[in-house]
Amino acid sequence: MAKILILGGTMEARRLADILGSDRRFKVVFSLAGRTANPLIPAGEVRIGGFGGADGLADYLESEKITTFVDATHPFANRISQSAATASAATGIPCLWLERKEWRPLKDDRWQMVESIEQAAEILPAGSRPLVTVGRQEIAPFFARLDIKVLARMIEAPETPPLAPHKVLRNRPPFRPEDELLLMRTEHITHLVTKNSGGKATSAKLQAARTLRLPVLMVSRPPAPDLPTAHSVEAMVDMLCKNSRK
Ligand code: NAP
Repeated sequence: MAKILILGGTMEARRLADILGSDRRFKVVFSLAGRTANPLIPAGEVRIGGFGGADGLADYLESEKITTFVDATHPFANRISQSAATASAATGIPCLWLERKEWRPLKDDRWQMVESIEQAAEILPAGSRPLVTVGRQEIAPFFARLDIKVLARMIEAPETPPLAPHKVLRNRPPFRPEDELLLMRTEHITHLVTKNSGGKATSAKLQAARTLRLPVLMVSRPPAPDLPTAHSVEAMVDMLCKNSRK
C-alpha cells in the first residue's frame, strides 16, 4: 500500500486528504505547521508541527516509510516547499507539487504587481484606506504606517492589536462577491492589497475591486519548486494513482 504524506495548510490539501483517505490503495498522513488554533483537519492520521528543516523532514520520510509525498502548501509558504524539494532529492522519495494557478488580471482590473509585502506597504498613498488580506504574520509593515487607515482581514487576531485608526476584521474564507462588494463600499476602501494566492475561495475580492475600479497591489509569488506538478486536486489524485501502479 502507498503511504502518502500530505503537507497541508490549504483547502486543496484537505480535499486531497479526504479523497485519498477513502481509497484503500493509500494510507494518508496529513501534516500541518500548527499556526492556527482551530485548524480544519481531514479525517485520518494528522501530525502537527515543523519537522526541523529539510534534514528533519528527510528523517521523518524515511522513519515513517513514506512512499510519496505531496507539497500542497500555500504558494507563499516558501520555506516548507524548499525543505520538501531538498528532502526529496536527499532521500529519493518522490515529492509532487499541488500548485494553485496564479490569478491573472482581466479587463478593467487596475493591478500593480509588487515584489514584496514591504513594497506594498511603502507605496500605499497617505490618507488611503486599504483592505489588506496578507495574513496575520505579515501585517506589521502596514500597521506601522500611521498616515493610512488599514482594514486588515485575517483568520486569527494578531498578537498585538493595532493602534487606531487601523482595524482588524476576523473572517475565514470562502468569501462571496456580493459580501466583498458590500464590505468595500461600507468601509470606504480605496485599495486592495493581496498576495497572488490563486484559487477560488478568496478571489471574490478581486471581482469586487474590479466592479469598483479600485487599485490592487498584487504581491508576486516566490519561485515555484522544480517538482512534478498538478494544478488541481483531481489531477493530483490521477498522478498518485499512476505512481502507485509503477
Ligand atoms: P513556511 O514559511 O514555508 O514554513 C515555516 C515553517 O513551518 C517550515 O519551515 C516548517 O518548519 C513549518 N511548516 C510549514 N508548513 C508545514 C506543514 N504543512 N507541516 C509541517 N510543518 C510545516 O510557511 P508559512 O508561510 O509560515 O505557512 C505556514 C502554514 O500555513 C503552511 O502549511 C501553509 O500552507 C499555510 N498557509 C500559509 C499562507 C501564507 O500566506 N504563507 C497562507 C495560508 C496558509 P520546519 O522547518 O521545522 O519543518
